[in-house]
Order: sequence, then structure tokens, then C-alpha cells
Amino acid sequence: MVTRRSPAATVMTETPLAHALTIDVEGFAESHAESVHVDPALLEPAANDREIRENLAVVLDLLLAHGCRATFFFLGRIAKSAPDLVRQVAEAGHEVACHSLYHRRITGQTPEEFRMDLAEAKARLEDSCGRSVIGFRAPDFSIGAGNRWALDELVACGFSYDSSVVPTALHDVYGMPGVPHGIFHWPNGLVEFPLPVIRVLGQNIPVGGGGYFRLYPLRVTLSYFQREARRGSPRVFYIHPYEIGPAAPRLRGLPVTRRFRHYVRLRQGRKRFSHVLDAVRFTTMSEILVQAGALPRKAE
Ligand SMILES: [Zn+2]
Repeated sequence: MVTRRSPAATVMTETPLAHALTIDVEGFAESHAESVHVDPALLEPAANDREIRENLAVVLDLLLAHGCRATFFFLGRIAKSAPDLVRQVAEAGHEVACHSLYHRRITGQTPEEFRMDLAEAKARLEDSCGRSVIGFRAPDFSIGAGNRWALDELVACGFSYDSSVVPTALHDVYGMPGVPHGIFHWPNGLVEFPLPVIRVLGQNIPVGGGGYFRLYPLRVTLSYFQREARRGSPRVFYIHPYEIGPAAPRLRGLPVTRRFRHYVRLRQGRKRFSHVLDAVRFTTMSEILVQAGALPRKAE
């Protein structure tokens, strides 16, 4: 809360600008299946759904306690094996969006493969939650300069916005340097809400959540989102249920650097995320995009 004293000495309270809170709903093993070797048994939907169910309960409790709404980017396959989870999130007042069907990077797919997976994921999610699903996030943010055709597939499938693009050149898997850092429209009309970056020594460093949130000191995340709120620039924070709740399987045989990257501060997630919810105001992606005039009011 920002409190200012007017010349007449009355106290005015302003509500800080809200950012978009996004939860990418997938199991820990399926999240990392294209980055490291994962035991196939850990990729069974039932195993991932058990983990997601346990962690999602913690996420929903925290959001309820903070009076906070969020956008949940669900894998479409969860709508097949555990549709009650999708319904539960929608009934709690959150936005359901799409995170592909099986968490396969788009960079490894043909347009036809992507089109079929996308259509099935969207239909399954809409059946489960009983609402239109208009937002998409690519697995591992895998829309870049080499597969911009995916943006046209999203429009053709009926999506209104995307949040897959990271304006950085520093990552080995993702990144599209040169795009705007704030909300913008692609030429085909699709709205883009990019993942945030900060400018350090001439480079765009990702800062919006996930592994970066776990790696950086908490104050880096808090001060970034508080500063952008004062500037009137809504940004995106993203996190996974396994980074907040207690359940995450041990992946065997990871090199030390990989083990650090995927497990650093995983056990402190609930406490750290609570601090973020205490300090930063959030709402859904659709709500921010409507407030920004990028989507019509009827979109949500
Ligand atoms: Zn993901």
C-alpha cells in the first residue's frame, strides 16, 4: 500500500498496480523431460497427477488466504486424467489457460502436430472448466524467431493471447530478443504478454519467476515487481505447483549443475512465495489485459 498525505493532512490510500500471477500446472518430471533424462515411470500421468494434486492444494490455500486470483496454464492431458483439478481451479475464481497437451516443446514439432495437440488441449480444458480458454503459454517458452508460425496456429485455434516470449538472447532453449518488454500485439492480432527481463551490463536477464525466482535473493524479485508497479508497468510472474507445495520426485543421475538448477531452494518455495504475495498485488492475465485495453471486457 502506498500512503500519501495531502495538503489538507487527510490520508489517501492508493491501490498499487497489479501484476499477472501465472501458475504453469505440470508435474516435476514432465516439466524436465526434455532437459534431462527422466525415468519413464516418473512420467506416468497418475504419478504426476498425485504430485500436482498435493501441491495445488497448497497453492490454492495460499491464494485464498491472500485474496489473490491467478491464471493457471494447465497441460491439456491433466483435463483427461484429472479433470476435477481443472474444475476446482476455475470454481475457486481463477482463470484456466492452456500450456499445450503434453509439455512437448514447439521447437520440436511440425505445424500440423502442434495444431492437433493444441486443438485437443483447448477442447479438453474447456470441457473440464466450462469456460472459454483464451490464453496460451508454450512449454519451456518455446516460441522463438524460428517458429513464429505457432502464433498463427494460436489465432486459428481461437486463442486471444500468448505469454510464451522471453525477450532475451541468453538462454539455450528460448528467447526472442528485440520484441517489446511490455504487452503488445503481433501483426496477426494475437496479444503477447512477454516474460519480464531486466537490463544488466547490456544484456536482458530473465527475472519473472521459476528457477530465477529460486536462484535470486528474494529482495531482487520483490523490488523488481514493486518498482514496475510504481512505473505503471504490469509484468508477469510465473511459478509451478512443485515450487510451492511439498511434493517433487528426486531425478536420479543429474550432473551437479543440473541438480542445483532444478532443486535450488525448492523446499523454501511456500515461504518465499508467501512473501511475494504479501508484498506484490496480483490478478489474472485476462484482467490485466482488459485493464490495459489489449482485450475487450467480454474476454474474461
Ligand atoms: Zn511448463
